[in-house]
Amino acid sequence: MKVLVVGSGAREHALVRALAADPGVEQVLAAPGNPGMSGLADCIPLTNLTDGEAVVELARDQAVDLVVIGPEAPLVEGVADDLRAAGFATFGPSARAAQLEGSKAFAKRIMAEAGVPTAMSHVCTTVEEVAEAIDAFGAPFVVKDDGLAAGKGVVVTDDRDAALAHAAACLERPDGRIVVEEFLDGPEVSLFCISDGENVIPLAPAQDFKRIGEGDTGPNTGGMGAYSPLDWAPVGLVEEVVERVAKPTIRQMALLGMPFAGVLYVGLALTARGPRVIEFNARFGDPETQVVLARLATPLSTLLYAAATGHLDRLPPLTWRPDAAVTVVLAADGYPVTPRTGDPITGADEPGDLGERAAYVLHAGTKRDGDGLVSAGGRVLCTVGLGSDLQAARAAAYSRIAQIDLPGGHFRRDIALAAAHGDIHVPG
Ligand code: AMP
Repeated sequence: MKVLVVGSGAREHALVRALAADPGVEQVLAAPGNPGMSGLADCIPLTNLTDGEAVVELARDQAVDLVVIGPEAPLVEGVADDLRAAGFATFGPSARAAQLEGSKAFAKRIMAEAGVPTAMSHVCTTVEEVAEAIDAFGAPFVVKDDGLAAGKGVVVTDDRDAALAHAAACLERPDGRIVVEEFLDGPEVSLFCISDGENVIPLAPAQDFKRIGEGDTGPNTGGMGAYSPLDWAPVGLVEEVVERVAKPTIRQMALLGMPFAGVLYVGLALTARGPRVIEFNARFGDPETQVVLARLATPLSTLLYAAATGHLDRLPPLTWRPDAAVTVVLAADGYPVTPRTGDPITGADEPGDLGERAAYVLHAGTKRDGDGLVSAGGRVLCTVGLGSDLQAARAAAYSRIAQIDLPGGHFRRDIALAAAHGDIHVPG
């Protein structure tokens, strides 16, 4: 099988790595890819990922058997629709189905119709409505931009003025809408549910770290690290989320004539009242994908191809490696507010083979500069560590990141720390 991966981040690097190691895959192509992928995939330039025609042309030129779309923007813009219309097996939902991520108000409506447990919420179009809604729910205030905001549309704060200022900024845009929610208290879990529009197969749950600072302080980011498995998660959690969240959502989308085929990313808070959905995404999460795929033993292409072609029910149960996995993100100076680019990176080079090793590097915002490597984005790269337990996986990930030098680069030192010490507790 020849597989094309669309995207250029560490999530796509993780997908490329898993596909390159897959005995069923003959060739991996990445568009546009990144410097870390060379050797595993043929990287092909693609300037605009949301240009459906360009992606179809590429798939045609290369005669690929499967296209995997990494980021949300091309999905929301209908690139998967264009590919399917041109006859390509495509992993990723249609534009209509991707509204589950593209509009928080849409996701809330589907959850209500499907009876999915989530935070109480109120959709607002003026600052006055927002003020009324946040006062009704009380602090901490949760104020969300309705549309796509690259992980930066959500503010959770005790500061009423800051909550209102965020709402006012989002509402300045034409058609701006705000979703105000009740605050959900409890540890967060990310669960990827693979679907072909009808059947659902969950992957292993993971936890990510959204805030920039240690101890979950400072502003939200695209994600600073993740780990899997979650030894502290209640027994039966995955089954419960599949039955109460994923299956009803998939059923409701099919009923409305917009079947969801791809990965439904369910972000949850485990509250004293049980699991509640925080958000849906329509693609793999970054950085959770890096740890979940590190643990998956089933060849990835079989899973993605079955989802793309409507045959998930024919797959044997997934198999998993016994290892724990931890990923730590190295961010650029100034991230997440004003990331600096163009800094030299040393120590990130890796052997070209996919041999077993305790830790490896996945690139996100990097670019080649002559013989060297320079930073080209806010999240620059991540290391993935594997081990017999979270302590060992942390040690591997942190010892690898310590070998990398990036002026002004910073990373959190507490990724998976509480979990490794058994310090995470589900309320209730
Ligand atoms: P989202 O983009 O919706 O995932 O929100 C980003 C982050 O904000 C989540 O991962 C949570 O940490 C936090 N968050 C979002 N909604 C809520 C909520 N209702 N209660 C508590 N925290 C939330």
